[in-house]
Amino acid sequence: MTAKTYWLEHAWLDTHVEPGVAMDVKDGRITTVRTSTPTPPPGAEILRGLTLPGLANTHSHAFHRALRGTVQVGSGTFWTWREVMYATADRLTPDTYRDLARAVYAEMALAGVTAVGEFHYLHHAPGGTPYADPNAMGEALIEAAADAGVRVTLLDTAYLSSGFGQRPDHHQLRFSDGSAQAWAERCSVLKDQDHARIGAAIHSVRAVPAGQLATVARWAEERRAPLHVHLSEQTAENDACRAAHGCTPTELLAEHGVLGPRTTGVHNTHLTDEDIALIGGSGTGTCMCPTTERDLADGIGPAVALQKAGSPLSLGSDSHAVIDLLEEARAMELNERLRTRTRGHWTAAALLRAASADGHAALGWDGAGTLEPGALADFTTVALDSVRTAGPPPRLGAETTVFAASAADVSHTVVGGRHVVRDGVHALVPDVPKALADAVAALHG
Ligand SMILES: [Zn+2]
Repeated sequence: MTAKTYWLEHAWLDTHVEPGVAMDVKDGRITTVRTSTPTPPPGAEILRGLTLPGLANTHSHAFHRALRGTVQVGSGTFWTWREVMYATADRLTPDTYRDLARAVYAEMALAGVTAVGEFHYLHHAPGGTPYADPNAMGEALIEAAADAGVRVTLLDTAYLSSGFGQRPDHHQLRFSDGSAQAWAERCSVLKDQDHARIGAAIHSVRAVPAGQLATVARWAEERRAPLHVHLSEQTAENDACRAAHGCTPTELLAEHGVLGPRTTGVHNTHLTDEDIALIGGSGTGTCMCPTTERDLADGIGPAVALQKAGSPLSLGSDSHAVIDLLEEARAMELNERLRTRTRGHWTAAALLRAASADGHAALGWDGAGTLEPGALADFTTVALDSVRTAGPPPRLGAETTVFAASAADVSHTVVGGRHVVRDGVHALVPDVPKALADAVAALHG
């Protein structure tokens, strides 16, 4: 790949907004960052607005995008929502999933996302029969990310039971490999690519029998791969775990060697003080998904306490009720304000760190999420002259971006030095709304 120079009108350099920065990029990485460059060098590509490190969407289920809007009619709980979600899952094939995921990942690129963690459990054909290529669904997702120009960490998910001691129900047969050993054998065939990392996931303590948790943890350990797990999103999971094992889901994971610095608990909503100490003390990360957690009426997780205990925070759009990492970042802070009736739990800098550097780390992308020499050339530019962002001085660009901008203000997204979104237009998927509409219509018939 040829070398290229970008001139950033304003750059977010982890602690402050720097005006006038020239950034050289070669072979997909940033090679130099020159501050005090008030005018663009000849031939440089000009990025007006505030350029941030690329955003990491740490928790995604791409197919949930097909539920947007349709699940907002009527009432119910997480569990009634899940029935609708399963009905959608039943209709997906590798071809329709590739089309849908390509459109969803293109929507993410338009929102400034450069890496996505796909928590993937829809492995087999309806009824549980493996496809001719047992990884056809996972490969479709990896291909979709390439087509949309973003990085993906495929968190291949073990999902073996419908509850403690219960066989998978008819929907869940598509998710199950039968045993953690069979899961490990299937995903061992998947290989990292330039734009793709293979990681592991335990769907939840409900979905993997306690005696098989260590098999998944060991698989991730041997590969030094990220390991994610839905954790205590619902109090019903805690109650069922206590009834089956006499302990909390966090304690069960700790006992079976699942916690640790390469592990991320997703949601971590309903925890005891002991759970928080176990998660933080082991360096296990926490992925908050505030727009989904509020959409599904989950509750507000103890993110402040978790971070204080030692758990790095990341953010995900999960069910894709909306895809907007800036909204996830501000929602984490604003939820806490509502809960405590005090302000300022995180700075804009800390929220951007969760949305980028710490999210990338949780997905196994080292050296990403910062604008410095040697880092991956993954970045995104937010307009500071839109109807939402005009007014505040550029030195407050991080505060303006986190607390007032939306995905609609993203004008550029560059991944590995490739300009994927330019002036708000996706370079690889020409009409993203149509791609989304077609892919969703194909599922709903
Ligand atoms: Zn999830």
